[in-house]
Amino acid sequence: MTGIVEAGYLVATLSFVGGLKYLSSPIKAKKGNLLAAMGMTLAVGLTIYAAISQNLPAVNLMVILGAILIGSIIGRVMSSRVEMTGMPQLVSLFNAMGGGCAMLLGIIEGQQVGVSTLALNVQLLLAGGLVIGAASLTGSMVAYYKLSGKLKDNRSRILIYLARTSLVLILGLLISFAFNLFPISFITVIYILAFLSLLYGVLFVWPIGGADMPVVISLLNSLTGVATALAGLVYSNKIMIAGGIFVGAAGLLLTLLMCKAMNRSLLKVLAGTFAKGKEGGEVKEIHIKETTSSETAMQLAFAQKVAVVPGYGMAVAQAQHACANLQKQLESRGTELHYIIHPVAGRMPGHMNVLLAEANIGYDLLKEMDEVNDEMDQYDLVLIVGANDVVNPAAENDENSPVYGMPIIRAHKGKQVVVIKRGMSTGYAGVENNLFGEENCQLLFGDAKSVLQDVIGQLKLV
Ligand code: NDP
Repeated sequence: MTGIVEAGYLVATLSFVGGLKYLSSPIKAKKGNLLAAMGMTLAVGLTIYAAISQNLPAVNLMVILGAILIGSIIGRVMSSRVEMTGMPQLVSLFNAMGGGCAMLLGIIEGQQVGVSTLALNVQLLLAGGLVIGAASLTGSMVAYYKLSGKLKDNRSRILIYLARTSLVLILGLLISFAFNLFPISFITVIYILAFLSLLYGVLFVWPIGGADMPVVISLLNSLTGVATALAGLVYSNKIMIAGGIFVGAAGLLLTLLMCKAMNRSLLKVLAGTFAKGKEGGEVKEIHIKETTSSETAMQLAFAQKVAVVPGYGMAVAQAQHACANLQKQLESRGTELHYIIHPVAGRMPGHMNVLLAEANIGYDLLKEMDEVNDEMDQYDLVLIVGANDVVNPAAENDENSPVYGMPIIRAHKGKQVVVIKRGMSTGYAGVENNLFGEENCQLLFGDAKSVLQDVIGQLKLV
């Protein structure tokens, strides 16, 4: 029996590896998701089977199956209802659930009779999983509220100092317990750690500014994986260890890549050290020039080389298909068109790639920011579709701006720039964008999808 379970776990582990491999290609990503989900179903089925063979009480089995059923129904309803723009929030919620599970495991196991006789290393693994899980739970909940715009950054220094104090207390308590520095029962340690870690999650994520949020989101994701791997070590469950390590490692790699893309050190993000700028940065009065769909169509008609810079607004408007239609129109006229992708455009890693792939836009047309930044002056027209922070020149030329130091797409270097947006709202970082006042920049106001459809209509007349 153990042999069957172990063999099944191996198959599940291989499916996770295959799933991750497929997820790295936008064309195969769906297959990868399905493969990993099948592996997970196998792993859960085998774990229940193994528990039944070890005389799992019938009532426990009913609770487990009931929970799986309720969770599956809620998950199905949520995934079918969520808009593409709500995906980052949903991912944060799922992450919070994973962290919450790890925390509950720690608390429940900590209450078991005889746990005090467990080896110290097992107790520390339980406590470690609980700390990481609890901090991921509240951290991800705060990220959820920030991403949905229900909670603003709170950059108060007090929060940062309190976060650091609670981290020191957590580490201090773990070390004191490990070295038996003062008499305290394991379950008391567990409860104090749970409280401090829940508090730390809130205090750590709340002050994090716009430009650092993508890093924090992928870090929280990675931490949930680490918490799962620690729980797997406690239960000696190989598939939990493997799954947790995959999530933890993939999340950590993404975190480091995001840090590189944002020109920030992970330590500075974790310590809540912000860019030099003060809140709000320098506010200059800017004079904008408004344009129309027909003028933009004329500019496009005469351009040889066009760059489209998509951002969060494209996701809100679901304008990716309109972008693809515009591209076809321009290509039929012999115009060269590229999409320039910023690593943190939108609200989740790879957000723009997912949307453009959905509209069947060829990957050969997508250019990374670094690939083209030095050649932006070769584009006759840069069309910005609902992007804001990722094209803000203040990141390069205003030392007082909170986004100073963040790498940007140098859209302002284009010969002409047209920005499609609905009004004068700021982007996620809440910072004014001086690009809008530049000599070569015009604003085309309206919802990205309907504006692009208008432009396409006008282009057909030129
Ligand atoms: P921004 O959030 O900077 O700007 C989006 C712009 O889109 C706004 O100026 C808004 O202006 C406009 N917009 C909104 N809806 C529409 C619509 N229907 N039609 C046309 N325009 C619209 O987006 P960016 O992609 O430039 O930058 C991403 C930001 O999000 C960065 O600050 C990044 O750090 C942060 N972030 C990214 C994450 C990630 O993993 N990618 C995760 C968390 C945060 P208006 O309302 O006037 O139309």
